[in-house]
Amino acid sequence: MSMKIDLHMHTTYSDGAFSPTELVLKAKKVGLDVISITDHDSVNGLKEAMAVGKEIGVEVIPGLEISTDLDEKEIHLLAYFIDIDNDELQKYLSFFRDERLHRAKRIVQKLRNLGLSITIDDVMDHAQNSAIGRPHIANAMVNLGLINNYYEAFEKYIGDYGPAFERKIHVSPQSATKLISDAGGLSFIAHPGYVKESILIDLIKAGIDGIEVIHPSHSENQINFYRGIVNQYCLLEVGGSDFHGGKKEDGDSLGKYLISPNNLEAMRNMLHKNSA
Ligand code: AMP
Ligand code: FE
Ligand code: FE
Ligand code: ZN
Repeated sequence: MSMKIDLHMHTTYSDGAFSPTELVLKAKKVGLDVISITDHDSVNGLKEAMAVGKEIGVEVIPGLEISTDLDEKEIHLLAYFIDIDNDELQKYLSFFRDERLHRAKRIVQKLRNLGLSITIDDVMDHAQNSAIGRPHIANAMVNLGLINNYYEAFEKYIGDYGPAFERKIHVSPQSATKLISDAGGLSFIAHPGYVKESILIDLIKAGIDGIEVIHPSHSENQINFYRGIVNQYCLLEVGGSDFHGGKKEDGDSLGKYLISPNNLEAMRNMLHKNSA
């Protein structure tokens, strides 16, 4: 039987339901041999996951899903084989999370000025360990009964043109790519189905190492299309389940979205070439 490899999943260190230990145990249970934990804007769950993986025989590749934006559009990059102790990377990630928290506090203050009874602690309850964002604020507002549903929060208050909107810090995909390669890692465009094709090509020209071809949101046609781009531009192919532990109706996706051992081999070869 061929190796089972899934390189995209989340723990409680971002917006996943399971702790690193729980997730690695679950991966073992569904028969995965190699995984990567790719929390949003955090590498804090990796040491625990790698230690557990070592104990039970699941290889855990250090990973990260980093949030960037281009022309007001959010673009996620996946990073693999990064040195998680890299100073610049650590500094950047904590700066990013601090900035997101300050911004959430400004939004909450605006909501309070509009007469809504909400505090930053209400929002933090929904953010767990993840970089805090508007979805957490919307969930808190629903929970407090300030609005009827999630979307109303955006329509009435915190949408891009709403009265409580605040901009967030801008991080370009290009600067994130540099951060990743300086930390010894490889960078990939995550779930490109959400990215305009012209932007995709720009990112490839800017030095991205590969594309996430396998993702639950991709149709068979998209998979073929992105694989074509990978071949055309001599890129690496990656993929996985983007498992959040049932939080996004993905409760049974772990173990079902796999890349081939050849894809992983090509990533390792690229790393060797880079370090030579
Ligand atoms: P943030 O990064 O904090 O600005 O939050 C961005 C996220 O908020 C997006 O990824 C969406 O999930 C969500 N979002 C933004 N605008 C809307 C909207 N009009 N309706 C629903 N969700 C939205
Ligand atoms: Fe997520
Ligand atoms: Fe993503
Ligand atoms: Zn993800």
